[in-house]
Amino acid sequence: MLETIINKAKEIYPKIQSHRRFIHQNPELSFEEFETSKFIQSELTKLGIEYKILAGTGVIGLLGKGDKCVALRADIDALPVFEETNLEYKSLNSGVMHACGHDMHTSMLLGAAEILKSIESKLNGQVKLIFQPAEEKLPGGASILIQEGVLENPKVDAIFGQHIYPGDSKGKFATNSGFVMGSADELYWTIQGKSTHAAQPHLGFDPILAASQLIVFYQTMMTKYKDPLDAGVLTVASINGGSATNIIPESVEMKGTLRSFNLEWRDEMHKLLLEKSNEVCKLYGCECKLNIVKGYPPVYNNESLTKLSLESTNQIFGEENVVKFIPKMWGEDFAFYGQVIPATFWFLGVKPVDQKEMPALHNSRLSPDEEPMKNGMAMLAKVAFDYLNNF
Ligand SMILES: [Zn+2]
Ligand SMILES: [Zn+2]
Repeated sequence: MLETIINKAKEIYPKIQSHRRFIHQNPELSFEEFETSKFIQSELTKLGIEYKILAGTGVIGLLGKGDKCVALRADIDALPVFEETNLEYKSLNSGVMHACGHDMHTSMLLGAAEILKSIESKLNGQVKLIFQPAEEKLPGGASILIQEGVLENPKVDAIFGQHIYPGDSKGKFATNSGFVMGSADELYWTIQGKSTHAAQPHLGFDPILAASQLIVFYQTMMTKYKDPLDAGVLTVASINGGSATNIIPESVEMKGTLRSFNLEWRDEMHKLLLEKSNEVCKLYGCECKLNIVKGYPPVYNNESLTKLSLESTNQIFGEENVVKFIPKMWGEDFAFYGQVIPATFWFLGVKPVDQKEMPALHNSRLSPDEEPMKNGMAMLAKVAFDYLNNF
């Protein structure tokens, strides 16, 4: 079966590459993937695969027969990024770019769909193909799909997903069991002071000073309110306040993110942040309003599914190309599936071999090597087959 899958992947690669270029050229933002969704629907129709629509633009394909059901997931949305590559198929939708590789994820899942359709009679169960909208925007397409029943009818037993990874060269495959990505919450602060002439600070309350002290205090919180063996990060990524050299402003706005693998600490930290931030600002006569928007939970890779995926990997990529993924504090809404059913997620190296470093995900110059899609689609198909037939 391995050979059949690999040969089929090689055979359809040119078509999948042209799918990828078409999707890349026509990117759409989260929850607005209307044309992308239509494109996926028309390709599934050509393959004779039945599908239904969920969450507006999500396309859920189904093939095979039997009691077991495994799901493969690809995210389909693009980012509000102005593309700065020189690709001949660069974005035609100005200000929107597939800068996170979801064009490749979508194409690889279409490739896996075609491979699996060609061996459908040999599958001991069903495969659900989840083309998921809005990975990049809260509350995340995954959570909406789950609410709308994507893991039911037929009930899904396990799910696999993949992401391109610019940190590893093409041909490499990286995964790990346990936590591989963090929870990701959004933080929005307003620090309210009292405006006054900059030369008469005693007549007001300075929100810039309060904000500065708050940011420094957060460094203390991260060392003194967290077990040093637990991973976590709190970053203030944006700060705005003031307009002139001689005015203490009325308020300061800040934005940032809190990330962790530990759900208990995360909840505790939400409480502490609300409480302590205001206490610190009060010392400076200011008031702190903090809005915490709970984002994605951490991504947890099920041990036995990860082991199963590694068996396919060793055969497809070669053992020497399989590396341990070092967990990152990135966020991924694939995490929501893992809270309901066993799930595992892996990373596909896409760095061109002649480049020492390539732009990171979400960068306007991201230009991944496309060839790893061959192994990526074979991998999805093989792991689905193995789960249904040999697990
Ligand atoms: Zn992204
Ligand atoms: Zn992504």
